[in-house]
Amino acid sequence: MPIKFPFSRRRDVSAETWVKCPSCESQIFNKQLERNLRVCPTCGHHFRMSVGERIDLLLDDDSFVERDAGLESGDPLGFHDQKPYPDRLEASRVKTGLREAAVWGTGTIDGQRIAIAIFDFRFMGGSMGSVVGEKLARCFEAALHERIPAVVISASGGARMQEGTLSLLQLAKTTAPLTRLDGAGVPFISVLTDPTTGGVLASFASLGDVILAEPRALIGFAGARVASGTVGEELPDGFQTAEFLLEHGLVDRVVPRAELRGVLSRLLRVLPVAHLAEGPAGESRGWGPIGVLSGIAERLGGAVSDTVGIGVESGTNGDLATTREESER
Ligand SMILES: [Zn+2]
Repeated sequence: MPIKFPFSRRRDVSAETWVKCPSCESQIFNKQLERNLRVCPTCGHHFRMSVGERIDLLLDDDSFVERDAGLESGDPLGFHDQKPYPDRLEASRVKTGLREAAVWGTGTIDGQRIAIAIFDFRFMGGSMGSVVGEKLARCFEAALHERIPAVVISASGGARMQEGTLSLLQLAKTTAPLTRLDGAGVPFISVLTDPTTGGVLASFASLGDVILAEPRALIGFAGARVASGTVGEELPDGFQTAEFLLEHGLVDRVVPRAELRGVLSRLLRVLPVAHLAEGPAGESRGWGPIGVLSGIAERLGGAVSDTVGIGVESGTNGDLATTREESER
C-alpha cells in the first residue's frame, strides 16, 4: 500500500465543499475554513488540524526536518477487537498518509530552532502507544542533547488500548526525559489542542514549563460522565475546557490559533536555554527511577485533582488514574 510520505503540503481537502460548524451550525465552505486557519468565521470554533497543517501554521517555511519517520508499531499482544490491530493501523495509514499518530522533528520559528512533536487526531484518535511514546522521548532527548527548546502540540484520546500495559508505560517513558530537561535548564512548551485527554494529559502534556491551550479545547483525564460517576457528584459545566483550566491554574494561557505562532516565538525569546555553565547540574537533581516516579505522582496529584475537581490522597494517584482510564473504555 503506497504511503504518502513525507507529509503532503497540499491541504487535505475533503470531497465535500462545505462543512457544518458543530458549535454554531453555520455552513462554511471548506476553502473559507482553510483560509481562516480552520477556525469558524462565525463563532470562532477551532476545527482540528492535521500534522501538515500544523507545520505550515507554526514553523518557518521548509524548516521542518522529520526524524525517526520509519518507526512503526508492531502488534506485541496480537490484539484483536472487532478488527485486528494491524488492520486498524493500516486503515489509519491509508486515511492520513502518516505512519503513526505523532510526528517529531526539528524546525525553526522566526529562526529559533526547536525540537517539535505534533499529534494527528485522525490517526487512531491520536492515541499513544509504544511508537508515539518513543517518538516523544526521542524528541525530548534531542532537545536535551542539542540544547534547544522542546514543543509538543497534543491532540489525543490518551493511551492506545490495543497495546495494553505497554501504552501505560509510555507515561513514564515520556515523563522521565522531562526531568532531565528541567534539570538542564532546557524549556519545554506544551500546547493542548482539542482534545487532550487520558494518558497524554496525565503525562508529559501537563508538565510544560509553559502550558498553552487553544480556545474551547476539551482537556481532561477521563470523560465527563466517568469523572462525574467516579466522584459521585455533578461537576460544573465546562469543567474540561481550556478556559476553565486557565481559571484554575492548569493552563497558563488560552491562545487563539491565529496568534499561536507569534506567542510561541515570543516565549522562545523570553525562555532561553540555560548556558551549560550556569544551568543547575541535571544529574544531581534526584534523577533516578524512584525520584522520577515520585515526581510524577506529585505532579499528577495536582493535575488530576484540578481536572476532576476532587482531593486525591498522595500515593494513590497511579491506581486511581489507571482505574478511571480503564473504566472509561
Ligand atoms: Zn461556528
